[in-house]
Amino acid sequence: MTGAPSPAAPPDTPVLILGGGLMGLAIAWRLARGGRAVTVLSRRRSEAAGFVAAGMLAPHAEGLSGDLLALGQASLARIPAWVAAIEADSDLRCGLRPCGIVVPFASAAERDAYPTACHGTALDRAGLEAEIPGIGAHWQAGLLFPQDGQIDNRRRLMRALERACTRLGVSFEEGTSVVGLERDAAGRLTGVQLRRADGGRATLSCRQAVLTSGAWSAQLVPELPVFPVKGQMLSLQGPRQVLQRVIFGPGTYLVPREDGLLVVGATSEPQAGFSEGLTPAGQRQLQEGIAALLPEAGRWPPMERWWGFRPCTPDEGPLLGEGPIPGLLLACGHHRNGVLLAAITADLLAGPLLGEPGSAEEQRLLAAFRWDRFRQSPAPLG
Ligand SMILES: Cc1cc2nc3c(=O)[nH]c(=O)nc-3n(C[C@H](O)[C@H](O)[C@H](O)COP(=O)(O)OP(=O)(O)OC[C@H]3O[C@@H](n4cnc5c(N)ncnc54)[C@H](O)[C@@H]3O)c2cc1C
Repeated sequence: MTGAPSPAAPPDTPVLILGGGLMGLAIAWRLARGGRAVTVLSRRRSEAAGFVAAGMLAPHAEGLSGDLLALGQASLARIPAWVAAIEADSDLRCGLRPCGIVVPFASAAERDAYPTACHGTALDRAGLEAEIPGIGAHWQAGLLFPQDGQIDNRRRLMRALERACTRLGVSFEEGTSVVGLERDAAGRLTGVQLRRADGGRATLSCRQAVLTSGAWSAQLVPELPVFPVKGQMLSLQGPRQVLQRVIFGPGTYLVPREDGLLVVGATSEPQAGFSEGLTPAGQRQLQEGIAALLPEAGRWPPMERWWGFRPCTPDEGPLLGEGPIPGLLLACGHHRNGVLLAAITADLLAGPLLGEPGSAEEQRLLAAFRWDRFRQSPAPLG
């Protein structure tokens, strides 16, 4: 299978994980469970989108289609067992809630035209009010996706993965930036150059590494079409249990955690690049979204405001498996569905590194998300 370990690499040579965000942790944990030695090189854990995301598990509510929908559905199906294993290894809860997601529409015609309408239950205004008491008056129809849900990535999943990794012997270098890649005459990866938190420079030899640098991935491999899409978020403290379902409106969504915390997202700002910080316009957009979706939530006390960078690609699907540098596998570009896709990404990437033959469907998905799929096919001769 493509991406198999180099025969020259003894099994205890650590796999280097370049980036300790959600994909890095998920893959490191999966490899360590399979008996591989793993080192995670992490520049700044707090900047990871894994600590930013709303944690929706929403292939249907997001209206995905084609291979991305298939990837999302395959990951969604794996999530209960994936979470149970992380919880067992960490003794921490991940906050998985199969609570269903409601997508509201201004009309039944808009609802019926939604790309994933056939996977949901159609709601009229009365049905919407029953699912979301207090929903804004503008919404006349809806789709309920009971199979979609959420996980508490910010407060729980990331920490559980970190602890599970540590318990399985994964070694972490926090505050370490990968600043360059070393290659032999054949172009194969031989090492990574580092800058440590104290400013010291070093080179680590390696034969196998996985690029999990999120929105920053193209800084290390410029051929990759990965770019940041900034998102701003906020949270409110609502009464416990007042809202059961996630509401996924156009431009704004409301994600109720079990303790009443309401996570509100998110702006989508490709033009912002890596500019940090909140903006008045971004925060206003979220406030307007709350007022339109659930007016009473506008009176709930504000808790936090934050932002982060989604790793986007031209078709909004991830780059998985072999890339332009032999020995460096790719797990980046998950854009707005990385929490959903972490479970299957870990399986697809770790499988080849552990010598596990993937199923035919897994191999098909790896091929569908190759890094070079955006290149134009050569013009036919003649
Ligand atoms: C506002 C917002 C809302 C979102 N909501 C959802 C949602 O509801 N559901 C969902 O499924 N997904 C959601 N996502 C998407 C999801 O968070 C991402 O797709 C996912 O976290 C990407 O994981 P990653 O590991 O690739 O990147 P990250 O989690 O960003 O991790 C990348 C890590 O790499 C490190 N790094 C970068 N460069 C280097 C380097 N040179 N050396 C060492 N380390 C480096 C960074 O410090 C960072 O910690 C959301 C994202 C955002 C921003």
